[in-house]
Amino acid sequence: MNKMTDIAALTTAANGDELVAPSFRDELLAAGLLIDTGENGLYGRSQLFEDVVDRLNVAITHLGADQDPEVLRFPPAMRRTDFEDSEYLKSFPDLAGTIHSFCGNDMGHQRLLRALDDAMNESDDDRSDAWMAQQKPTRIVLTPAACYPIYPVMARRGPLPVGGRTVDVLSYCFRHEPSLDPGRMQMFRQREYVRLGNAQDVMAFRQMWIERGSLLVSLLQLPVEVDLANDPFFGRGGKIVADSQRAQALKFELLIPVANPGSKTACLSFNYHMDHFGAIWKIACEDGTVAHTGCVGFGMERITLALFRHHGLDVQAWPDDVRALLWGDTETRVAHGMARMRTQAAAAALPDAGDSA
Ligand code: ZN
Repeated sequence: MNKMTDIAALTTAANGDELVAPSFRDELLAAGLLIDTGENGLYGRSQLFEDVVDRLNVAITHLGADQDPEVLRFPPAMRRTDFEDSEYLKSFPDLAGTIHSFCGNDMGHQRLLRALDDAMNESDDDRSDAWMAQQKPTRIVLTPAACYPIYPVMARRGPLPVGGRTVDVLSYCFRHEPSLDPGRMQMFRQREYVRLGNAQDVMAFRQMWIERGSLLVSLLQLPVEVDLANDPFFGRGGKIVADSQRAQALKFELLIPVANPGSKTACLSFNYHMDHFGAIWKIACEDGTVAHTGCVGFGMERITLALFRHHGLDVQAWPDDVRALLWGDTETRVAHGMARMRTQAAAAALPDAGDSA
């Protein structure tokens, strides 16, 4: 039976009642690719899902190998004071996740256990959280974006070397936005290349990654659409900040339809922070000026979901070139793609070669 017939059969049952076609989320759960925890936006991943994530990571490594990045990995948490300094709470207080822990004495422990006993008599949804009155903030918070932990670390090293630095990071990140859209998870991985240097270095880096990120997505045979970002800044002032971000073209996103064909999900982002982080953490260039920073972020779950969405849940049936890119001669195919991109760029530049205007 083809897909259209399936959906037609599902939308109207024999008794005339309207049924809803299974959502992409339902299909992913039924296929076992994602594992439901009972909490919206918090999933387990199957071996196959993780295999695609791993193979994508290899392709991204080849895509950035010539940049000779320093590879750094942090656990998905950062120092609370560094998080406070980052000013994340100015823009996204509703998305942040703090880590609390029991910090009381024996009496507090008894109170906690009594409150917990009472709570256990209720169903999951009606449970009181009174036992949490004993919880206190710890000195660490959940990482909101993979690059956040590295800026204070870079600052402590002293001024950047000539030419700046390029760092390769990968981390689970947390955003408190429970949703049924599988493309909007509460915990997900971001792979990033981060550039620290002067403004020209960082702008050139971002332009290069808009091109390379688009290349990766086209090699994966997914639709490429790059647009200015529309971040959900919080509160009354949020719209002004969002407008300013767009007016200054600080952030671009690569958008792909994931959950449903009508809406698009940002799968990659290309960010220019100007001297925001450089000024906060006092990161200096070799000449003493405040460093500018930028990053390219690959949403590992989102790109993986886009592949399943566009090529189907059976990876054996994915297009040959996509399979070969991920499970075959990844390095060669990425290198060929980059060479082709450079040739096309050179050809496009030719008509203007003699134009001094
Ligand atoms: Zn970043």
